[in-house]
Parts: sequence; C-alpha cells; structure tokens
Amino acid sequence: DKNKEKLERLENFLKKVSNKIMVMSGKGGVGKSTVAANLAVFLSNRGYKVGLLDVDVHGPSIGTIMGIVWQRIYPSGEMLKPVLWSKNLKVVSVQFLLENPDDAIIWRGPIKIGIINQFLSDVDWGELDYLIIDSPPGTGDEPLTIAQTIPDCKALIVTTPQKLSLADVRKSLTFCKQVNIDVLGVIENMSGFVCPNCGTVHNIFKSGGGDELSKQYKIDFLGKIPIDPKIVEESDEGNLLDKYNGKVKEIMNEIVDKIIN
Ligand code: ADP
Repeated sequence: DKNKEKLERLENFLKKVSNKIMVMSGKGGVGKSTVAANLAVFLSNRGYKVGLLDVDVHGPSIGTIMGIVWQRIYPSGEMLKPVLWSKNLKVVSVQFLLENPDDAIIWRGPIKIGIINQFLSDVDWGELDYLIIDSPPGTGDEPLTIAQTIPDCKALIVTTPQKLSLADVRKSLTFCKQVNIDVLGVIENMSGFVCPNCGTVHNIFKSGGGDELSKQYKIDFLGKIPIDPKIVEESDEGNLLDKYNGKVKEIMNEIVDKIIN
C-alpha cells in the first residue's frame, strides 16, 4: 500500500546519503540558517554532492539567504524536483511551495510531520555526500521528526556567546541525548566584531562561551564566527560567504575542514 511504498522510498533515500547533519539552535536569530546555508555551499564547492533541506516550516529562510525565494519545486513523475543551486547543491524549502513569499503557514503538528517526511521520501535528491537540514530553533515537532526519521543524523549546534543563548544550547543537548542522536559539535556565531577599519576582532558580547560549554559537555568546538556586517548586506543579495574574501571565509573553511574529518 501507499504508506509502505513511502517508507521504502524513504529508506532507499537515506541509504544513499552518507552524512546527515541537522543544524540546531536553542533560539532564533543566532545565525543558524546562515551557518546551514554556508556549510552546504562550502561543502558543495569542494566537490561534495550536497542537499540542503529547510524544515523550518513557520520561519523558512534558506530561500531568502540564498536569494532564491522565487524558486518553486515541481513534481516530476512521482517525485518532486529540488531547486538546483549549483551542479552539486540541491535545495528544498517550504518557501518554494508558497504562492506568495509572505504567506504564513498555519499547519499543525501532524501536517508538518507529513511534509517533512515527504521532503525526505518524495524529493529527487539522488545520491548525496551530505544532507544539511536547517531546523527551526528549539526542540519542537520539526527536529523531533528529523531525529526519529533519520536515526544516524548528527546535530550541529549554533549559539551566540551570551549566557542566555548558552542556557538554551543545554536544552538542545538534552534533546539530542533524549532522542539518541550524536552531537557533531558547537559553533559560536556573532563571536566578536571584525572592525572594518583595522581588521581586529573586538568582543562585544563575552566570547568563549561555546568553548566553555563544549568543554563542560565534552563536545567538539568547531569554531567562532565573528559579527561581520558584510554577512547581512551580502545575504540580502543572496550572496554567501564563499563569494568574498576575508576572515569569515577563512573561518568557515576551517569549520568545514573539521566537519569533513
Ligand atoms: P537564525 O537561523 O538563527 O534565526 P539567521 O541565520 O537567519 O538566524 O541570521 C539572522 C540574521 O543575522 C540575518 O540577517 C543574518 O544575515 C545575520 N547574521 C548571521 N550571522 C552573522 C554574523 N556572523 N555577522 C553578522 N550578521 C550575521
């Protein structure tokens, strides 16, 4: 029957994906989606086959960050065709299903779970080296669905250096433990400010919180990304960090090195 078929398609797909990474954060606005999108782009630039899936149903932003909100996904035979960002990078977001980019989604839990499963089983992803999943902040239906559907998925946690944000990270860590998924590591974003004039990193918020936390919980600390006003300007244009040279691109490359190894 239909459900069995779907389950088979899902299992077949998951077998064809070598690494599944869910990007999480305790709260919104810490740069989780920015990190997810850049990670996908940097990995694909290195020649890996990458899928980027935005499961943030209520606040999808991958399309915006990548400058492709106007893209739509269409059925092709039985399957849905993902948006091709480049030869190596396929992108799927709820944004690509909306009639109008400003439409609000008011789906309840079961419908959300259904659509997320459909994004995994019914999208023509092909073989992937990396599937990067941008989940909404917190520990709601979406990350839970991912953790339950993809048992070998690993969590990448994005935080900012402030105390409150770190307290939220602890919740993400507890969540991962409860649903039994491994934590790949923590990234501290908006950690210091790169002065456009002198290039020095100034610590606006206390820096090093992510470092402290990863020591305390014995998780890998993958790096600190400073605040760079260029990230906002460029991402409004749909440009990612691979497009301009500077400290932040260097740091992103170091993070990617650690993730690959
Ligand atoms: P989240 O997914 O956690 O809600 P976003 O990735 O959407 O956060 O980022 C929120 C805003 O912060 C965006 O406007 C983004 O361009 C900006 N931003 C993210 N990281 C940085 C950074 N390191 N420096 C400057 N701005 C950033």
